[in-house]
Amino acid sequence: MAPIKKVFDYIVIGGGSGGLASARRAASYGAKVALIESSGRLGGTCVNVGCVPKKVMFNTASIRNAIHAAKHYGFDVEYKGFSWAHVKKERDAYIKRLNGIYERNVEKDNVEYIQGFGKFLSPNTVEVGDNILEASKILIAVGGKPTIPKIEGSEYGITSDGFFDLETQPKKVAVVGTGYIGVEMASIFRELGSEVMVLSRSETVLRHHDTIIGTNMMDEMARIGITFAKNSVPFKVEKIENSEFPYKFTWKSNDTLHSDNFDCVLWAVGREPNISGLGLEKINVKLRKTNHVIADPFQYTGVEGVFALGDVYGLAELTPVAIAAGRKLSDRLFGGEEFRDSKLDYETIPTVIFGAQPAGTCGITEAQAIKRYGKDNIKIYQTKFSNMYNALLPYKPMTSMKLIVTLPEEKVVGLHMIGRDCDEMLQGFGVAMKMGATKKDFDNCVAIHPTSSEELVTMR
Ligand SMILES: Cc1cc2nc3c(=O)[nH]c(=O)nc-3n(C[C@H](O)[C@H](O)[C@H](O)COP(=O)(O)OP(=O)(O)OC[C@H]3O[C@@H](n4cnc5c(N)ncnc54)[C@H](O)[C@@H]3O)c2cc1C
Repeated sequence: MAPIKKVFDYIVIGGGSGGLASARRAASYGAKVALIESSGRLGGTCVNVGCVPKKVMFNTASIRNAIHAAKHYGFDVEYKGFSWAHVKKERDAYIKRLNGIYERNVEKDNVEYIQGFGKFLSPNTVEVGDNILEASKILIAVGGKPTIPKIEGSEYGITSDGFFDLETQPKKVAVVGTGYIGVEMASIFRELGSEVMVLSRSETVLRHHDTIIGTNMMDEMARIGITFAKNSVPFKVEKIENSEFPYKFTWKSNDTLHSDNFDCVLWAVGREPNISGLGLEKINVKLRKTNHVIADPFQYTGVEGVFALGDVYGLAELTPVAIAAGRKLSDRLFGGEEFRDSKLDYETIPTVIFGAQPAGTCGITEAQAIKRYGKDNIKIYQTKFSNMYNALLPYKPMTSMKLIVTLPEEKVVGLHMIGRDCDEMLQGFGVAMKMGATKKDFDNCVAIHPTSSEELVTMR
């Protein structure tokens, strides 16, 4: 059969956070838009195997915590376990509903949704099955995928994608990796009752974040019963037949091999761009060593009409970043003169880690501030306390907060905190920081009492 040729103003490859946002915004200006998605469901990583199902599991763990806390507040409740299978079924149904909403939204916005795998034939032509699509502007928004370590038996492990396929809760899990995904999944497993060991390449977790987050997150993870194999790397996984714990996992620490048996090994060792088969080599799009697509701050790849953003671009790999970059790009390409300079500012992006305690971070770390401004040109404000929620509890998870300011004006360039409710506290402070708030501005805001957030405006 001869290929079907279709011409558009804009082709978006990838129906995830960035692609959907950019396609819909472009269509809102009247552009004729094609959105190509290979997985058969819209929403991308965030909706299907990322933020959304992860947050459902974090909430599940939080509810379990509340049940434990309840008796200390006088409630006659007993924790009697929970059903992983029930949560999975309900979570899957919720995500399916979201997939449907996304499909209806693109239809409503007159974006043509094309299911299939897109690959470049030329800088303005993309092949999808029997379709040949043409446009003068094409967006690469194909996202990323989990990295699997190249060791013997790695196929016996699962990744964050597989976490969401688990029908039953594993009893004993090895989580390999201490970035935010490893920390979040280890904490969820443990809070819900699995025995968990975390393998860390270094002494700490979340080592790309400020030390206040890494150190306190590790303490909180240990407090809930997670054990650590520090300064270790994975070595191999072997399958043991007829065993309750069928995977013998071996790791290496200081040239010594250690092993233990688990019923689940989870690789959380990083993510890589989803570019295989996309045909980027044909159109001369340049890649970094990590395989992320190189683009300028306007998301332009340097190849006429070809743009890239989101996880495949690799700067701040977060859903709202992909969405904002996608919308700004479409504003610029299709929104007229008013938006000719539209681009995303990748500085001062707030984000949260949903670990054993939620952690919020915005701006630069103390180490980055010293490097950028010099040790004598910054000042650190820090506090540690127990949230009033813990008043009647026998255990007292701590909240820690740090502000990094530049001297002499005391502009707040870093805000890092970990503890109960820090996830919901950060967004407003993110606005203040984006507006260039100083410590004095923080101090001039009257505190809300009794809350944890008041500590951020009363630090001395
Ligand atoms: C476990 C986990 C938890 C996360 N939690 C958070 C969080 O709490 N907060 C947050 O902000 N971010 C979180 N993220 C990150 C967030 O999911 C990503 O940053 C975001 O989804 C990136 O959006 P994107 O549009 O670049 O790519 P994606 O959302 O990954 O979308 C890319 C889409 O392109 C499709 N595709 C790939 N190749 C092709 C092709 N050749 N043709 C057609 N389609 C193709 C894919 O199927 C996919 O649907 C999490 C990620 C993970 C893995």
